[in-house]
Amino acid sequence: MNPLISEISTQKSDPKIIVALDFPDEKQTLNFVRQVSPALCRLKIGKELFTATGASLLEKLMTQGFEIFLDLKFHDIPNTVAAACRSAAELGVWLVDMHAAGGKRMMEAAANAIAHYTQRPKLIAVTVLTSMTADDLAEVGITTPVEQQVLRLATLAQNSGIDGVVCSAQEAALLRQQLGQDFWLVTPGIRPAVTTTDDQRRTMTPIEAINAGSSYLVIGRPITQAENPLQALMDINNSIQAG
Ligand code: C5P
Repeated sequence: MNPLISEISTQKSDPKIIVALDFPDEKQTLNFVRQVSPALCRLKIGKELFTATGASLLEKLMTQGFEIFLDLKFHDIPNTVAAACRSAAELGVWLVDMHAAGGKRMMEAAANAIAHYTQRPKLIAVTVLTSMTADDLAEVGITTPVEQQVLRLATLAQNSGIDGVVCSAQEAALLRQQLGQDFWLVTPGIRPAVTTTDDQRRTMTPIEAINAGSSYLVIGRPITQAENPLQALMDINNSIQAG
């Protein structure tokens, strides 16, 4: 193990960075993961990687001490989403998400299904996908302004016993103000000032996102594609702590 990592691993922490493992297979994922440390980040496994590798890779990463955000964005009838959340709780993941558009009964069923676990996963809801424009929403019959729709779904999630939402950092300040300090705001679309924006459009720097009220930052390429991922991660963590 990199001596820097073993030194860092002895420090107790609550890392704010969730690294998006947008890799197609186990080999590339493990190649990357061996360069970082659970003391510095959590890891997000999404549909691509989970569909390719299933629970076995997830369990391997948890054995290494990483906490996992299982980003499968469940959206189904209440009974099915509740059962899926129970399966995630059995796996022992740290965070799971679903679409708030699945409605109150679906979210309540999910929350109730895992309430009895002593160390249950936190549940968060996706409000409006940031890829959706006002025109896209109108096409599916939603004519409410996007920000209002985000607030409406986030409020519904909170009232259904959900712990927080995935949202754009641009929406974080409004949601933090409206929904209080304890509601988790997990924000992607983060770019350190020195990197390119890739295909992200409305980006914020890590410290801007934290100052806007983000609880955790989802960051992919600025770390996974960096020449030195550990350094990139440490630089971002330092930029947050210094802010
Ligand atoms: O590489 P990058 O930092 O853009 O990766 C961001 C991660 O967050 C990706 O896994 C992407 O799918 C996810 N995400 C996003 N915007 C959202 C929701 C999730 O970029 N609104």
